Amino acid sequence: MTIEYTLAASEPRTHRFNVTLRIAEPTTSGQILSLPAWIPGSYLVRDYARFVGRVSGRDERGAVRVTKTSKNRWQCAPASGALTLEYEIFAWDQSVRGAHLDDTHGFCNGVNVFLAVAGQEDQPVRVHLRHPDNIESTWRVATTLPRDGAQPWQFGAYRAADYDELIDHPIEMGEFTVVDTDVADVPHRVVLCGRHYCDEDRLARDVKRICEEHVALFGELPAMDEYLFLTRVLGQGYGGLEHRSSTALVCSRDQLPSDDADTNARYQSFLGLVSHEYFHTWNVKRIKPAVFTPYALDAESYTELLWVFEGITSYYDDLALVRSGAIRIDDYWRLLGAMTTRVLSAPGHQEQTLAESSFDTWIKFYKPTPDTANAVVSYYAKGALIALALDLTLRDRTNGKVSLDDVMRALWSRYGATGNGVPEDGFEALCEHVSGLELTAFFDQAIRSTEMVPLAPLLQTCGVDVSSSQGDGPSVSLGVVFEPDSARLRSVRRGSAAEKAGLAPGDELIALNGLKVVPASLSSALAAYKPGQTFDAHLFRDDELMVRPVTLDAAPETTWRFAANDDATAAQRARRAEWLHRDA
Ligand code: ZN
Repeated sequence: MTIEYTLAASEPRTHRFNVTLRIAEPTTSGQILSLPAWIPGSYLVRDYARFVGRVSGRDERGAVRVTKTSKNRWQCAPASGALTLEYEIFAWDQSVRGAHLDDTHGFCNGVNVFLAVAGQEDQPVRVHLRHPDNIESTWRVATTLPRDGAQPWQFGAYRAADYDELIDHPIEMGEFTVVDTDVADVPHRVVLCGRHYCDEDRLARDVKRICEEHVALFGELPAMDEYLFLTRVLGQGYGGLEHRSSTALVCSRDQLPSDDADTNARYQSFLGLVSHEYFHTWNVKRIKPAVFTPYALDAESYTELLWVFEGITSYYDDLALVRSGAIRIDDYWRLLGAMTTRVLSAPGHQEQTLAESSFDTWIKFYKPTPDTANAVVSYYAKGALIALALDLTLRDRTNGKVSLDDVMRALWSRYGATGNGVPEDGFEALCEHVSGLELTAFFDQAIRSTEMVPLAPLLQTCGVDVSSSQGDGPSVSLGVVFEPDSARLRSVRRGSAAEKAGLAPGDELIALNGLKVVPASLSSALAAYKPGQTFDAHLFRDDELMVRPVTLDAAPETTWRFAANDDATAAQRARRAEWLHRDA
């Protein structure tokens, strides 16, 4: 029996969606309803039920009592015939994970607005999207939910095969620009919502070649009628969330291309985001950890494999930019350098393994504290470095016959295309199977230890040099990070001069050596000192003035650089060309 939802925005200025849910055949003992606690792709319990107002029920006889039985569950009294529920959702979250509504646009994910009907999650769903009252009829709808009577881009009826599909198609409504292209004979469209000055032809060209690169890697685009990049353009913002045939993106206005000038770093980061989310169409939306098949959305769902799904995706996002020609090889070296610097300059990589980072993401990576940089390693960034190391290891040890590309294709055919989940030991086993190599020692080091796989010798096989230095900063370091526009300390680096002196997150640093601290110019102020020098730091902790002697340390090597080696052998150059799909 079809479950029917009506999503309306009667008064967009109240930032509330109105939802009506009609269940033709509710459970006779009393229908139970629930709302997911987290959204697939973002591994933090966000308790979307926080935004649900009172749920009222009625049947053919009148009101039906609805009682809450837990933070995200509702119990209805037994109903006579069809049961209709009504409720409001407060929608004032600009992120890709939330719902947002005002008199300029509306956006939501299914997990934000659609209560699940217990026991009927596999039933087909119909969704009626209603044009908001009191808003001019210039609003349109962008979603990959299949149309069920609605005209293209219009309000009306849509459908989903089941609840799992219902919550995998975000919905945008408002006035927007549609940038058209096609990939593998399937329409691909970038929907730009918000003010922008985008060079649409250029964006279409670059999106197309990046998507084609990923399709070529996997050998096919999964079956779909269209793909949408639902992009919210803001003054400042950045983020994305993957879905089966769309992605929700937030970007800053200046990340979109405004002319035919050289691809700048801001635009490259947007293209990297596009590339990242599109790669997820295979890697995590279809090739999934076994624990996500099906998703259990009431509570945390633990896996040590997130580095495979986010790290490998983070490796291929930029790699596809250079392979497709969207960026230059020198830009790729810069991006690799920045990522390596991010991972290796934070002490967290010596504290947490990639497996631990994946498993504990629910309470660590997604719940940052002042100690995060000291205690947590990102399974995105370090995962990408390990993917790089794995790719080059496979190429090196099989003499160029097998690469991570082959492993991704095998993952697709064995797991993604079949719908079978990847067991916790499945990725490593498949790497060994595809390559014929014994890789236990590699994975023990890369995934289950905090020791970094040495990158330099691997890159040398492709004629690429990696070097580290202190960068352009002073030769001494205090080891603190300030809050933005403030002299308050956000974090204190583990083992640093500041930690040894007893400085703490939250302290307001007012003077060093008797001179006022100006955070923006602290680096130049420190340039006058040498490692080993000691002086007083004045600070407020709460409202108490404190003085602590600080002995400066030598600045750690914090900047990593990648560059092609001009003296590379022909074999190394050939290996590099195979890797980057570019003549080197
Ligand atoms: Zn991702």
